[in-house]
Amino acid sequence: MSDAIRVTVWNEFRHERDDDVKAVYPDGIHNVIAGFLGEQDGVETRTATLDEPEHGLTREVLDNTDVLTWWGHLHHDEVDDEIVERVQHRVINGMGLICLHSAHLSKIFRRLMGTDCMLRWREASERERVWVLEPGHPIARGLGSYFEVPESEMYGERFDIPAPDELIFTSWFQGGDVFRSGCCYRRSLGRIFYFSPGHETFPIYFQDEVQTVIKNAVQWAAPTGAAWPIEGNTLPLEDLPGYEPPDFAQRM
Ligand code: ZN
Repeated sequence: MSDAIRVTVWNEFRHERDDDVKAVYPDGIHNVIAGFLGEQDGVETRTATLDEPEHGLTREVLDNTDVLTWWGHLHHDEVDDEIVERVQHRVINGMGLICLHSAHLSKIFRRLMGTDCMLRWREASERERVWVLEPGHPIARGLGSYFEVPESEMYGERFDIPAPDELIFTSWFQGGDVFRSGCCYRRSLGRIFYFSPGHETFPIYFQDEVQTVIKNAVQWAAPTGAAWPIEGNTLPLEDLPGYEPPDFAQRM
């Protein structure tokens, strides 16, 4: 068994049938993401897509996934609830989850957040400036005080998410909007990162800084090796060391 971080890159893979998206991502967004992640030593990647049996997320695949990345947009409802449940179970037990761009409305992200996760948006090819709020955070490693995406879809506040455990990036857009674009959460043993840049008609996943963020996020979200204690809840009180039954008679 290797010590590599095993990443499964999930993509809806429907947009890429359209010419304007195919022109940017001829092999699909998932293959670009898996490509740059897999260039790193100690990272193994595989891909999975909506139209595969069980959406490519069989028990066997998920049991052998340390970090799952998720890109979906128009077909969130087609993701089977049983698979969503399966992914949630794995996150709670330590698998990392990185939700990208319009995955803010995916069933798995909304379930893990417990909120609507809606936002405001505008497709106007605006410049996005991604400000680094936590330069010491592992996800911001290698970045300056900000970086720019030359053409982006505007995602704006209010973004209906619970307050992030750590807010790493806030974006400013040419049109004046701002957005919490890099948010960290913990759910039980699992780590979750939401990162918003990544609209399908712009070559955003080819950009160095964006690749750096996602690479860093994989390292951050990888399981720490923590596990639930096996015993605990079912121990009879009498078995606790030093336990003495209360003497009710004496109190009367
Ligand atoms: Zn988009």
